[in-house]
Amino acid sequence: MAEPDADAVIIGAGVIGAAVAFELASRGRTTLSLDALPAAGYGSTSNSCAIVRFTYSTFSGVAMSWEGLHYWTDWPAYLETTDERGLASLVQCGTLLLERPGGHHGKVVTLFDALGIPYDRWDADQLRTRMPALDPRLMGPPKRVDDDAFWAEPSQSLPGAVWTADSGYVSDPQLASHNLQRAAEAKGARFRFSTKVVAIERSGGRVTGVTLDDGSTVSAPVVVNVAGPHSAVVNSLARLEGTMRIGTRALRHEVHHVAAPAALDFEHTGCHVSDGDTGVYFRPEVGNSILVGSGGSRVRHPRLG
Ligand SMILES: Cc1cc2nc3c(=O)[nH]c(=O)nc-3n(C[C@H](O)[C@H](O)[C@H](O)COP(=O)(O)OP(=O)(O)OC[C@H]3O[C@@H](n4cnc5c(N)ncnc54)[C@H](O)[C@@H]3O)c2cc1C
Repeated sequence: MAEPDADAVIIGAGVIGAAVAFELASRGRTTLSLDALPAAGYGSTSNSCAIVRFTYSTFSGVAMSWEGLHYWTDWPAYLETTDERGLASLVQCGTLLLERPGGHHGKVVTLFDALGIPYDRWDADQLRTRMPALDPRLMGPPKRVDDDAFWAEPSQSLPGAVWTADSGYVSDPQLASHNLQRAAEAKGARFRFSTKVVAIERSGGRVTGVTLDDGSTVSAPVVVNVAGPHSAVVNSLARLEGTMRIGTRALRHEVHHVAAPAALDFEHTGCHVSDGDTGVYFRPEVGNSILVGSGGSRVRHPRLG
C-alpha cells in the first residue's frame, strides 16, 4: 500500500488548528494543515476578544482554561521558536465577575476552590472602593430595548464580585495563530492556505484522506476537524451528522470598540469585566478604548461613566 501523504490532515489553521499542528508535530507526527483562507488565524480567531479567563461553569472548563493560562504566561518557552512578525503577549489585567441574583458565581468559586485557583471575593463596599469607575447598581436581568422595564431606574446594588488577578487577554489572536504556525513548521509541520477541503474520503469504515477544491487529493489515516464555527459542515462531508451527542452551529456575536470616558485610563487601569447583569463583557484595548462584547442581550445602562 502507498505511503500516506501525512500522518494527519488538519482542516483549519485558526488558533485551535495551528495549536493541534504544533502539538502533533512536537510528538513526531507528520501533519498537513489546510485552510480555505490565506493565512493562519484569519477565521473567527481574528475576531476574537481573546480573553483568557477561568470563570466557566464546569470542572473541565475551569481546569482547561487554568492550564491554558500557563501556555500564554511563558509563550516563548512553549513555542520553542521565534516568529519574524514578533510574538503575541498576554496582558494580565485581571477579571471581575460581577455577582447577580441567579448568576453562576457560586458554582465558579466552588470550582476555583476544588482546583486551587486563586481569587478574591469582594462585597458591595469593596466593589465600590476598588473599582470606583464602575456603576455598582443592579440593572438586570437584561431586557430588550422595546421592553418598558428596560428604562426603569435601578434601586438595588450589585451584591459583590469575584476577582481573579491572573486572567486577562492575548494582545493579538491572529498573531498568536501565526506564532503557532511557525512553531509547528519548526517541528516539520506543513501548511497550505487558500485551499478548501470539499470532500472527505472513506474506505472500509475509515477515513483515508480529503479532496481539495482544485480536484487533488491528500491521503492520511487521520483527519482532524478544527474548522471553527462551520465545523458541522466538515462533519457532514464525512457523513457524520447525527452520530455525535454534541452538535455545533455558527452564531453571530456582537462586539463594539468604544472610547473610554476621557477621565479614565481604562487601557492601563481597567480590567476584564464579566457583567451578566447587563448581558455584556468588556476589557481594555489599545488607544484607551473598551472592547465590549454582547452576552446576547442589550445593555441596560453603560456601566462605566
Ligand atoms: C467575536 C468573538 C469574540 C470571542 N471572544 C473570545 C474570548 O474573549 N475568549 C475566548 O477564549 N474565545 C473567544 N472567542 C472564541 C474564539 O475566538 C474561538 O473559540 C477560536 O478562535 C476558534 O478557533 P478555531 O481555530 O477553532 O476556529 P477558526 O479561527 O474559525 O478557524 C477555523 C478555520 O477553518 C477553516 N476552514 C473551515 N472549513 C474549511 C474547509 N472546508 N477547508 C479548509 N479550511 C476550512 C476556516 O477558513 C478557518 O480559518 C470569540 C469569538 C468571536 C467570534
